Amino acid sequence: MIIFDHVTKLYRPGVGLDDVNVKIDKGEFVFLVGPSGAGKSTFIELMLKDLDPDKGNIMVGDYHVNKLSNRMIPKYRRKIGTVFQDFKLLPKKTAYENVAFAMEVVHKPGSQIRKQVPQILSLVGISDKADKYPHELAGGEQQRVAIARALVNNPQVLIADEPTGNLDPATAWGIMDLLEQINMRGTTVLMVTHAKDIVNRMDKRIIAIDHGRVIHDSRQDYEGPMGGDEE
Ligand code: ADP
Ligand code: MG
Repeated sequence: MIIFDHVTKLYRPGVGLDDVNVKIDKGEFVFLVGPSGAGKSTFIELMLKDLDPDKGNIMVGDYHVNKLSNRMIPKYRRKIGTVFQDFKLLPKKTAYENVAFAMEVVHKPGSQIRKQVPQILSLVGISDKADKYPHELAGGEQQRVAIARALVNNPQVLIADEPTGNLDPATAWGIMDLLEQINMRGTTVLMVTHAKDIVNRMDKRIIAIDHGRVIHDSRQDYEGPMGGDEE
C-alpha cells in the first residue's frame, strides 16, 4: 500500500534520496532508521507530498502521490496520521479539544465528534485526562493525546517521527505498546527512530537508509549507523 518505485530526490549529489525502492503492505509495522542526514525526513515529506520527487513514482493506498492534483492534496493527507517528537499539541486546548479540533477542521458533525473523541481517548488510555491542558500532562500523556488526534479521522497510515525521542525509557515503551496495539487494529505504522534498543527488541521490519540509499531492509537486528546518542 506504500510504494516507492525508483524514487530520487536529490538536493545535491548524494544528499536526499537516491533511487529508493520500498514496498510496505497494508497493516505492516515498519521502522525507518538511519543517521542524521540519511534522508528519513525526505522520505516522510515525499509521502506527505510536502516534496515532489525528481524521478520515480510514489503510491500510497489508492493515490498516485507524485501525480496528485493540488485540489486532491488535502483529501489525500487526511488518509495519513502524523505524530512528532515534540507532540505539537495546541497549548490553549484541552486533551479533548485537541482531538475534537482535528475532526472539526474536516467538518465532522458534532454528534460524531462527541461520540468518537471519548472512544479514542479511551483507546490511548487517557480518558481521565480529557479536561487537562497540555502543560498539565506528562510527556507520555501528551504523546498519547497526539496519537489520538492523529487517529481520530481513521487514517490508513500512521507516521510517527521520533515519537519517543523526548520520553524516558519506561514511558517510551508504553508508547511502543500503544503503537503496536494500533497496528494490530489494522493501521499501517511507519516509525522513524534513533532508538536502537527499541528497534532491535520489537522484531519488526527495519528499513535503514544512509546517504539517501536503502542499506538494510529486513526483520533481522540492525547494527549499522543509526545516529542518536550513540553517534
Ligand atoms: P534525516 O531526516 O535522515 O536526518 P533529511 O531527509 O532531513 O535527513 O535530510 C537529508 C539530507 O538532505 C541532509 O543532508 C539535509 O541537510 C539535506 N536537506 C534536507 N532538506 C534540504 C533542503 N531543503 N535543501 C538542501 N538540502 C536539504
Ligand atoms: Mg529528520
